[in-house]
Amino acid sequence: MTNPLYDALFAPHEGKDTAFLHLADGRVLSHADFLAMADRTANALGTLGVKPGDRVAVHVEKSPEALALYAACVKAGVVFLPLNTAYTPKELDYFVGDSGAALFVCDPGEAEALAPIAAATGAVLKTLAGDGSGSLSDVVATQSAAFAPVPRGEDDLAALLYTSGTTGRSKGAMLTQKNLLSNAQALVDCWRFTADDVLLHALPIFHSHGLFVATNVMLLAGGAIIFLPKFDLETVLAKLPKATTMMGVPTFYTRLLDDPRFTRDLVGHMRLFISGSAPLLAETHRAFEGRTGHRILERYGMTETSMNTSNPYDGDRRAGTVGFPLPGVEVRVCDPETRAALPVGEIGMLHVRGPNVFKGYWQMPEKTKEELQEDGWFITGDLARIDADGYVTIVGRGKDLIISGGYNIYPKEIEIFLDGQPGVKESAVVGAPHPDFGESVVAVLVPEGGAEIDLAAIEAAARADLAGFKRPRHYVVLDALPRNTMGKVQKAELRATYAEVFR
Ligand code: ATP
Ligand code: MG
Repeated sequence: MTNPLYDALFAPHEGKDTAFLHLADGRVLSHADFLAMADRTANALGTLGVKPGDRVAVHVEKSPEALALYAACVKAGVVFLPLNTAYTPKELDYFVGDSGAALFVCDPGEAEALAPIAAATGAVLKTLAGDGSGSLSDVVATQSAAFAPVPRGEDDLAALLYTSGTTGRSKGAMLTQKNLLSNAQALVDCWRFTADDVLLHALPIFHSHGLFVATNVMLLAGGAIIFLPKFDLETVLAKLPKATTMMGVPTFYTRLLDDPRFTRDLVGHMRLFISGSAPLLAETHRAFEGRTGHRILERYGMTETSMNTSNPYDGDRRAGTVGFPLPGVEVRVCDPETRAALPVGEIGMLHVRGPNVFKGYWQMPEKTKEELQEDGWFITGDLARIDADGYVTIVGRGKDLIISGGYNIYPKEIEIFLDGQPGVKESAVVGAPHPDFGESVVAVLVPEGGAEIDLAAIEAAARADLAGFKRPRHYVVLDALPRNTMGKVQKAELRATYAEVFR
């Protein structure tokens, strides 16, 4: 028996003194250093009574020790369950209870507040701080750095990852060894990662993007990671000269573009910039190319499936699209009601099938049955179009679709129009209940730095360019859109805030 994920990602680096993690303070951890940390941590899991198949819930700052905990879980056959650092004790209560975690690792500063939760669910509570200290580390420090991998099959769970909760309550996605490994292999191949790559990593490691896409790809390729605790503009500008590649959410790229020190010279040596987790505006894509000469490679994925599609490494990286299905992954666009496949170019519900598709939602058999069909097709909840060249464009989420007077309105179409108006930096369009039309359109606008938005001019432009039923009936100007840590616009929050504007 083997442990496929361990064997592919970690075992090849045993004993190697090649650089793995370059830390913000200049320290470098070799692959061997990191694997020794992981082995000690795996032994500590055993000491704490964690058995193969158990869940370990982790609510900690980003650190090499936290990443070693992930590696330890893989090696020990334990299910890793990272949690968004923004979650409050009330939210954590749900995740720890729902997952039935055997061990709950939290930040020392919140241990007191979380102790009752651990006590109520029967989880052992240990702490880990961003600097690597804590009661978990005290146990780890006493352990031996030898640990034999626990045998696993490719359909065994490697992680339980909760979705971001953008459209409702987060769901626990059960991800198998095969799910994670097949995706890492496809991405290394498509994006041409090698042992020579140095990835600038400023993403959180509680989400699929920073944990699986970034880390697993680098482990498989054998390269090094510049491992930063968060996206800090000064640090990122200082570290970019040492990187060959960067993965980010769109807000990373807009923040870099907002700084005049982000120049063509600074990143002339870079091989690749990748974006995902939220839509990258075509305008950002173009501005980035204008400034740096690099065409950002946008890809699309989700917690349940890891990555599904990517723009090509060699071919045309088309702004506003998410490219083609990854090798081994199939996509189709279907009628949301009948689920029948739609002709090329039509907008419908995106379905995905492949080795990347998760095993189901944790303890939600009904939800799993609704969204994961028996023939393997997963209903993503995203509306998309596939053009004649095979490029996939994400039009928005099914739940954000506005139905006004019986007509379907795709918010993205209105947002693209609004973003193009003078003085508008970005926009978000949501539906609000309307007494006559069922729903009508609310436009939330963010002005460009220093600009005044002329609403009368925008309304006139909308009258000229948009069909009557699509025109916003209510405008709001905000300094910034509400976003979560992954840069996702929180449309549910906007809908709640403006629910009464037409009543
Ligand atoms: P929940 O499922 O709990 O409502 P969520 O869908 O935001 O939350 P994630 O799994 O983190 O949770 O995000 C996946 C979603 O992010 C996708 O379904 C899609 O809507 C969006 N997304 C990811 N990458 C892109 C992209 N490149 N362009 C557009 N949307 C993207
Ligand atoms: Mg989702």
